[in-house]
Amino acid sequence: MASGEFDLIARYFTRPVRKAVLGVGDDCALLQPAPGMQMAVSTDMLVEGRHFLSTVAPERLGHKALAVNLSDLAACGARPLAFTLALAMPRIDAAFLDGFSRGLFALADEHEVELVGGDTTAGPLNICITVFGEVPAGAALRRDGARPGNGIWVSHPIGGGIGDARLALEVFRGRLGLDGDGFERVRRAMELPQPRVPLGLALRGLATSTIDLSDGLAGDLGHVLQRSRVGARIRIDALPSGEVLSAQPEALRRECLLCGGDDYELLFTAADDEAVRAAARSAKVGVTRIGTIEAEMGLRWIDARNQVLDIDARGFDHFTD
Ligand code: ADP
Ligand code: MG
Repeated sequence: MASGEFDLIARYFTRPVRKAVLGVGDDCALLQPAPGMQMAVSTDMLVEGRHFLSTVAPERLGHKALAVNLSDLAACGARPLAFTLALAMPRIDAAFLDGFSRGLFALADEHEVELVGGDTTAGPLNICITVFGEVPAGAALRRDGARPGNGIWVSHPIGGGIGDARLALEVFRGRLGLDGDGFERVRRAMELPQPRVPLGLALRGLATSTIDLSDGLAGDLGHVLQRSRVGARIRIDALPSGEVLSAQPEALRRECLLCGGDDYELLFTAADDEAVRAAARSAKVGVTRIGTIEAEMGLRWIDARNQVLDIDARGFDHFTD
């Protein structure tokens, strides 16, 4: 970016580091993983119009940009250490940068993760964050360990469920209306997702496979099944949904639960139900068992009477491309 780039970096994105050896201001940052630890690295890019709407408040955008990345570390059972931020924006907008950096650093502080570098340029609004975390060698949670008989679990806010972010998106798309309070509740799910880092840490050595829900339950579970070479049976009536989504017509409810997207909850498998419940309590998050891993390949949706339903979850999603 032309003049002002270095002032901008100094003003909004330079903070002292405590964990990193070297932070913003040099050609590279320096990170020092503790002995015996492996580095977990993940990148997520947010593009206006595709991953967020222009209506989102800058502070919430700063939160979400980091949250979706921390969610990937959570899914690997990694402890967050540091992140970099590559930012393109049309012009230097103090109000935007103020709010954006406030939301970003509030979540960073909550998870004790430091901004150590990045890149800043003029262009259409685009935010790319790379996170670095650490996990004891060999202990990272992966997608390929689900085994027949394992329970299938999903995390969610205590007393709430999944699918709210998708419901909010449908309101923005004009498909339905909600009253002010209901709308704000699902809108928060979409704009202020809470990365499940403590749960990811508590699931080390316990979950046989883990993924974070970013593209919807059906698709993301499909990745686990494929990588683990197993199948699954999911009880549709067991899928947790919050108050606002529960009040919606059945077809819309199913669409949000099965194909949701933007949930940033953890979907995982484990052999020991009681240990999972204890892990969730220690992480102060809700978890619900939604099904069982089976040796027979494929994904079977069943109703309360144990009948297999004829559902092609992809058929629910008009917007997949
Ligand atoms: P270089 O041209 O050598 O890559 P830059 O001029 O792009 O360096 O950046 C100067 C310093 O500011 C570097 O340490 C870089 O990591 C940091 N930096 C640039 N943009 C950001 C940003 N958006 N957030 C945090 N650090 C940034
Ligand atoms: Mg640069």
